[in-house]
Amino acid sequence: MVVEVSRLEVLDDDWTRALAIVAHPDDLEYGASSAVARWTSEGRHVAYVLASRGEAGLGDVPPATAAALREDEQRRSASVVGVEQVTFLDHVDGAIEYGLALRRDLSRVIRRHRPELILTLNRHETWGGQSFNMADHRHVGLAVLDAARDAANRWIFPDLLEEEGLEPWGGVRLVCFSGSPHARHGVDVTGFLAAGIESLQAHRTYIEHVGTDPESWLREAAQAAGALLGCEHGVALEIVRP
Ligand SMILES: [Zn+2]
Repeated sequence: MVVEVSRLEVLDDDWTRALAIVAHPDDLEYGASSAVARWTSEGRHVAYVLASRGEAGLGDVPPATAAALREDEQRRSASVVGVEQVTFLDHVDGAIEYGLALRRDLSRVIRRHRPELILTLNRHETWGGQSFNMADHRHVGLAVLDAARDAANRWIFPDLLEEEGLEPWGGVRLVCFSGSPHARHGVDVTGFLAAGIESLQAHRTYIEHVGTDPESWLREAAQAAGALLGCEHGVALEIVRP
């Protein structure tokens, strides 16, 4: 990730409930989970929603086998940073479509969890360099923004109220994108990087498959964001107000 600014603003902390919504197991663990570790240690409530089970992410491992493995690893990973509620929406890994079905599923979880802050992953076409950001991340990131607004309007997806009893929720004040090249804000995670690293290491099968070194990758990113925030370790975030 390449951040364009020379200084990051500290993220507001006047909130108590967060919902993290991403496409795949491991999306939150490439940086953002260190911030989650800090937030849960401060007594804030954080829950995770995964649009897919990451079933296409283990090479030759068939999807049914991969889905079970990756779900298990995601639950362990969440637990490392103090998150016990993990929901999988079963959209198809690698083929997550932007559209009303996704917006409706995300509106449902937003109404159910009633978060003030939503954490998700970079929705832009690149990470700031030349490598292209895959469709699942772009589609989920955009749908999160739309669903944060949809969830507040009782006339959009009215059956969520009429059939499921889910009242509209207009309380989402901040949508935070990790991995964004347009980050302007950040969270000081000094003291929480080890938990973030452990949460990525919990994706053991996936890490073995991709062959990355979780510790050095996360440490470098946290040091770079920390330098822009004026602390040892940080997580850089792009903020959008829905
Ligand atoms: Zn992903």
